[in-house]
Amino acid sequence: MRRRGKSGGLAGGDSFKEMYLRLLDNVLAQVSRSAVRSGDRFLELRPQVVVSAKNTYVTNLGQLAKTLNRDPEHVSRFILKETGRAGTLEGERLAVQGTISSEEVRRLLDVYLKEFVRCPTCGGIDTRIVAEKRFRFLVCDACGARNPVRRI
Ligand SMILES: [Zn+2]
Repeated sequence: MRRRGKSGGLAGGDSFKEMYLRLLDNVLAQVSRSAVRSGDRFLELRPQVVVSAKNTYVTNLGQLAKTLNRDPEHVSRFILKETGRAGTLEGERLAVQGTISSEEVRRLLDVYLKEFVRCPTCGGIDTRIVAEKRFRFLVCDACGARNPVRRI
């Protein structure tokens, strides 16, 4: 890429372009991080988000929960709790009061994946959440690790 010298009066334009490219790099890095490889399984989380009137609908919540191998109710509760919003699971879709961007939903799914799906010990995703009295554990079928997770 050609760069304008510092003496040029349009240096500001160049730094804006650099800033934009850096931002783009960050976004792309985040997008690729939401796809997680584990063994030969590939988790691809692509929330379909529709904003209508004053509500946001994650229309493929059921499918996302299936991909994560978790209860749709659990994934929904997490999204609502993290965003501090009211909402209801309506079959396959999650209806949320207010507006949330698809980027935000994707970020939350990433957090969910890290906290409630991926084994912190081996990085595997063949895990289950097991309830014991008041406690919840993430149990890994690959390495057998048991790690406490918060209840939501
Ligand atoms: Zn493990």
